[in-house]
Amino acid sequence: MSNAPILLTPGPLTTSIRTRQAMLVDWGSWDRDFNQLTASVCEQLLAIIDGSASHHCVPLQGSGTFAVEAAIGTLVPRDGKVLVLINGAYGQRLAKICKVLGRTYSTFETAEDQPTTAADVDRLLAADPAITHVALIHCETSTGILNPLPEIAQVIKRHGKRLIIDAMSSFGALPIDAREIPFEALIAASGKCLEGVPGMGFVFTEKTALAAAEGNAHSLAMDLHDQHTYMAKTGQWRFTPPTHVVAALHEALQQYNEEGGLPARHQRYADNCKTLLDGMAAIGLRSFLPAEIQAPIIVTFHAPNDARYQFKEFYERVKAKGFILYPGKLTQVETFRVGCIGVVGADGMQAAVNAVADVLREMEVLDI
Ligand SMILES: *Cc1c(COP(=O)(O)O)cnc(C)c1O
Repeated sequence: MSNAPILLTPGPLTTSIRTRQAMLVDWGSWDRDFNQLTASVCEQLLAIIDGSASHHCVPLQGSGTFAVEAAIGTLVPRDGKVLVLINGAYGQRLAKICKVLGRTYSTFETAEDQPTTAADVDRLLAADPAITHVALIHCETSTGILNPLPEIAQVIKRHGKRLIIDAMSSFGALPIDAREIPFEALIAASGKCLEGVPGMGFVFTEKTALAAAEGNAHSLAMDLHDQHTYMAKTGQWRFTPPTHVVAALHEALQQYNEEGGLPARHQRYADNCKTLLDGMAAIGLRSFLPAEIQAPIIVTFHAPNDARYQFKEFYERVKAKGFILYPGKLTQVETFRVGCIGVVGADGMQAAVNAVADVLREMEVLDI
């Protein structure tokens, strides 16, 4: 497997051999040992946000979007109203979830290179008292932009409203302390900065809010109140758990702690991001976002101007050299993306930059 390419994508991403090996055991879903594994995972996840006093961790089968949908469906009452803050595709998805679930919502959209500000949220909440919840993407993965979560959270609290955070691509790498940042729910998943494999999401929910959410959900399988109640009573998942995913996440969390926890994970990704930005700049490739609002998670680059550049051929050639890149997700400008997360360090990022330089030379892309 050493010839497998390195995934420079925002999940699934490159995992360690130890994490993959943890999936070689089959677990019984009602077995005490497996229940302990689940409990240990939830406990370790809560420790990352210092949230064990205030929040529950409710795991859910499926990809990250399943957990986002479950959080909105469970926590927003059917007569609630959500203000959705948008500056990219994942923000658009939050609005779509509200629409499909039949929750009333309004949207506030800024350009893909413009963070939402606390002043925006202050004005919007003052103008519409019907809003009960605000939904925010922490790091908008479609560009890599970081929204100012601490400031926005304080404004929402001041207005007496509730905050739902999609922190899918930032959780575990960017600090979020539940004792300092007020939120009703924060959603993340196994296969991003924790470097587990994809297959489960989890929602940190305020204990009081979850207790009050009985009967809100439109769906049986997506009901986090029911999932939590059953798990608290039996130690088991309500329906067939993703056993191998849980075991892999448990092993990935062990390595996370061995590495030095969040500060070390953040530092490694920040070094990856700097190596990538510096190296690409040396080739002449420009990043889409200014450094101040760039999260060290994924970087969007402008595609070269040269007509000889075609993403598909570029992608295949870089893949042949050992690196999987990611297409751009912007509608207005031609871009591509490179992830900084996963089991990779600055050496790997430099090797990826070298591969990109070689490929552009081979393709005779001159006008970068
Ligand atoms: C990855 C991600 C999700 C979840 O996407 P899935 O494809 O369902 O895993 C949601 N929000 C953000 C910001 C993400 O980066």
